[in-house]
Amino acid sequence: MTHPQTKTRRSALIGAVLAAGSLAVSCVPASSGAPTGGASVADPSGFVFPLERTVPLSDTFGAPRSGGRTHQGQDLMAPKMTRVVAVVSGTITQIRHSNAGNAGNQIRLTGDDGWNYYYIHLNNDTPGTDDGRSRFDQAFVDGLRVGQRVLAGEPIGYVGDSGNAESTAPHLHFEAHAPGVGIVNNFAQLKAALVAVRDTTASRPFGALDSAGAVAPNTIRVQGWALAAQGEDTVPVTVYLNGNPAGSATANTARADVGVAYGRGGNHGFDVTVGGVVAGTHEVCVVLHNPTAGGGSRTNCALVPVG
Ligand SMILES: [Zn+2]
Repeated sequence: MTHPQTKTRRSALIGAVLAAGSLAVSCVPASSGAPTGGASVADPSGFVFPLERTVPLSDTFGAPRSGGRTHQGQDLMAPKMTRVVAVVSGTITQIRHSNAGNAGNQIRLTGDDGWNYYYIHLNNDTPGTDDGRSRFDQAFVDGLRVGQRVLAGEPIGYVGDSGNAESTAPHLHFEAHAPGVGIVNNFAQLKAALVAVRDTTASRPFGALDSAGAVAPNTIRVQGWALAAQGEDTVPVTVYLNGNPAGSATANTARADVGVAYGRGGNHGFDVTVGGVVAGTHEVCVVLHNPTAGGGSRTNCALVPVG
C-alpha cells in the first residue's frame, strides 16, 4: 500500500465512523513512538472492522436460535484462519482456549473506550482439517496473553468454527458490550467500518533464540535475547512448545554482547527452563511480547529431541 492511498482511506474511515452516529466510540489515546513496521491500524481513534478482509454483512441480531435463544451479536462469515483484529485500542482481558461450551475459543478485548468486545468461535482446527485440535497459535496470534495492550487493527486471532459453530460455516461471532448497558447491536458501526483498511505502524520487539536443548530428562533449556523496538524496556518472552505456551520469563539477564552490538544496556538475555516435557522431538519457538502495544514477534525456532 502506498502512503497516498493510506491517507485517503484514513480520511474515509474517520468520516464513516463519525457517520455511525450514536454508536460512535469515544476518543482513545493516540499511540506514540515512531512506526517501524508490523501490523496495525488505519487511525488509532477509530473503530476498526474486526476482520482483516471485507465480508458480506447482514444484521442477524435478535434472530431466533436453538433452545428459544435469540442471536446476541453479529456473525461475520469468513474463511477459517482469516485474521481477526482489535476493533479499538485496549487490553486483552480474557483468552479462552477450549472447545467446550457454546463459545469455543474466545477473546475478550476491553477497549480504552470502556467497551468489552467478544471474539467467539475462533479457530480450533489444524489448518486444512476439521479435526478440533488446533494449537494455541492457530487460534490466537503469537504470544497473545491476558493483560497485553493491543492497538486498534492489531491482529489477535483467527476465524474458525469452535464451540457450537462446529456444524456451521466458519465465522466470527462478534459482540459489543457497552459500559453500564451490556450487549448492543452495533451493526451500523460494523457496516461503517467495513471500508477500513489497516496499514502497518506497530513497533515490534526483536531478538534471537540462541540455544535450545535437553538438559535433563523431560527438561528443555532455552536461551537467547530480546530487545524492544526502541528504548530500554525489558521484553517479556514466552517459550512455545509445538505451538502452545509452555514457559515464560523476562529478557533481563546479562548479555553484554547484545548491549554492545545494539548500543543498549547489557541486560536483555533470557534463560528459560521448561520441565515436564514428554519424550520425543519438539518444536521450540520463542515469542517476544511488545512491552507496550503493537504486537509480538517470534524468533527463529528449533527442533529439540528430548529423551
Ligand atoms: Zn453468532
